[in-house]
Amino acid sequence: MPPSPVAERFLRYVRIDTQSDPDSEATPSTEKQKDLSRLLAQELIEMGIEEAYMDDNGYVFGTIPSTLSEAQAARTPVLALLAHVDTSPDESGSGVNPIVHPSYDGGVLTLPGDPSVTLDPARQPALLDHLGHDLITSDGTTLLGSDDKAGVAVLMQLAEDLLKDRALPCPTIRLCFTVDEEIGRGVDKLDLDELNAEVAYTLDGSSTGTLSIETFNAAEAVVTVEGVMVHPGYARGIMVNAVRILSELIAALPATEAPETTAGREGYIHPHTLSEGDASQAQVRLILRDFTEEGLQRRKDLVTALADLLRTKYPKSLISLTIRDEYKNMRAYIEQSDLRVVTFAHAAARAIDLELDERLVRGGTDGARLSERGLPTPNIFNGGHDYHSKFEWNTVQNLELSLAYTKSLARYWAEHGSE
Ligand SMILES: [Zn+2]
Repeated sequence: MPPSPVAERFLRYVRIDTQSDPDSEATPSTEKQKDLSRLLAQELIEMGIEEAYMDDNGYVFGTIPSTLSEAQAARTPVLALLAHVDTSPDESGSGVNPIVHPSYDGGVLTLPGDPSVTLDPARQPALLDHLGHDLITSDGTTLLGSDDKAGVAVLMQLAEDLLKDRALPCPTIRLCFTVDEEIGRGVDKLDLDELNAEVAYTLDGSSTGTLSIETFNAAEAVVTVEGVMVHPGYARGIMVNAVRILSELIAALPATEAPETTAGREGYIHPHTLSEGDASQAQVRLILRDFTEEGLQRRKDLVTALADLLRTKYPKSLISLTIRDEYKNMRAYIEQSDLRVVTFAHAAARAIDLELDERLVRGGTDGARLSERGLPTPNIFNGGHDYHSKFEWNTVQNLELSLAYTKSLARYWAEHGSE
């Protein structure tokens, strides 16, 4: 493997356990996330960013000074670049032992820590686009943590390179490493005044050459049914069974609008949790997703109509429905604020002979919440694949490409941001 400072950083950071925990109320949800945050703040200071620090919540901030003249810098937006330190609760992140497999030949790779875990192009066809790459995986007993330590390593290397070589043009860059992204709280405690930027990107997208400016519009609905319980032996005409009523509601949801039957631009209604129910009371939680506001509203209306119908059919039951918005498709917010975050992202890619592929996120990103709060924040690639699993991988070359692209992006904003 050729010397690659960004890959070396990545290999160091993935060994630090930073798994977040959805059942914890604290921020960060696990103290161990601060182990990496603290190290990043320290390394930024050692690079010469004196004001770098970790706050009480585990967020890390630092500034790469601009190379522009004062007058030009004043007219150029401050650029924030973000990555998250935590890894997914879906798979163990404890004792990650990264392995570099030099010059991938397209075959099946068996991971030494657990021979039942293989990387197989039959299941993971993207592997075949990486022949000759130096593949990085875990040893098969844990996830790798490329999501999002690849983003973290790229931004740290960017900082080191831009500080060392002041001939590389950049605007003022605010670096920010966040916590608890994987449990949906990545930017809950992020103070935008403290971040103090006008445009932003997250480096949290899988594969290479991808740009995401669209996420779902998301809402959650909770339906609770209260029935009437009596002894089943003497129940005729009296009992109202909450389990049956709730089952009718779930059965009436369109099967063609489920996560398992939709893709691309199609939205869905997904009943994901039945709380412990019995004949006297039962509850279901559903998530509603759509790329358009109208589509989301239609799904809200459908659930509302079904609840109304059952109320009419079972007047002695008590049916309650609450619907809560979760996050919005960031596209509309990006278009309203500064569309250059998209056009410049494409131009910066073309400058290094890369064509960006705009990818829909069938989920949310921290950038969706930031865009809604007024900071336009598309998501860009970090080279990783097959997130949240023991099959996760990245490559030395992908990390290098992500770094080269991020440098090109900085240069493009420096050279065109004041126009
Ligand atoms: Zn991520």
